[in-house]
Amino acid sequence: MHIGSHLSASGGFLHMGKEALKMGANTFQFFTRNPRGGKAKKMDFADAQALQDFLMANRFAPIIAHAPYTMNACAAKTEVCEFALSAMQDDLARMEYLPGNYYNFHPGSHVGQGVPEGIRKITELLNVVLTPEQHTTVLLETMAGKGTEVGRSFEELGAILDGVRLPEKMGVCLDTCHVFDAGYDIVQNLEDVLEQFDRIIGLQRLKAIHLNDSKNPMGSHKDRHEAVGAGYIGLPALLGVLTHPKLRELPFILETPLDIAGHTQEIAMLRKAAADRK
Ligand code: FE
Ligand code: FE
Ligand code: ZN
Repeated sequence: MHIGSHLSASGGFLHMGKEALKMGANTFQFFTRNPRGGKAKKMDFADAQALQDFLMANRFAPIIAHAPYTMNACAAKTEVCEFALSAMQDDLARMEYLPGNYYNFHPGSHVGQGVPEGIRKITELLNVVLTPEQHTTVLLETMAGKGTEVGRSFEELGAILDGVRLPEKMGVCLDTCHVFDAGYDIVQNLEDVLEQFDRIIGLQRLKAIHLNDSKNPMGSHKDRHEAVGAGYIGLPALLGVLTHPKLRELPFILETPLDIAGHTQEIAMLRKAAADRK
């Protein structure tokens, strides 16, 4: 089982790997740059190489670099779309120093232009940014459908993927809080949700899971994460996702509102509960 949490990148790459190992994790996620602002730190190549060696030696699953929240690939304003394009290009260039990992982003918000225009802009950006030479798989995250978010249904994500010219460089990261908030009943009907995902997107394109509980009921379109077991999804349903035969090989990332000590406990609790279930 590969599980970890979101970590701060401020101490550098190798530091995150060591921190994750101490937490009982064997994957993790980090922001490529300030999640609200946009500036990236200077790249330390030796540190990136040291992390790659560490991940290999400790048999980590792929790690996930998360794009900043401010990035909107389908904004109405040209400058905002241009920032998304240059930030993603720059992030992917940096990720070449951590080859074989994932780069996850929120597809964007169409801000009133409509879903089809949002999908068109996101696809267009990906067709500029993706290259046949890159060693990173870019993941679209499933969204809760807050505001005008694009990617709140498997159909919307599937439409983006269908328009991409290098689909082998793309995948999906399923956020359990987001899909539940979007109206997918992973509590009562996980099998049915996975069947829909497989039919519309293809389960082979599912590369990672954000394992979060939700502060709100199904279909609320709120996107407020809760600690595992403390929200409306609940521990049994989240364990169902974690141990599902079609999902259990994936990296699972906790984005729950806890600190390092809290995530360490959450990881231990989930490992034990998953083992007890067998
Ligand atoms: Fe996210
Ligand atoms: Fe997420
Ligand atoms: Zn979220």
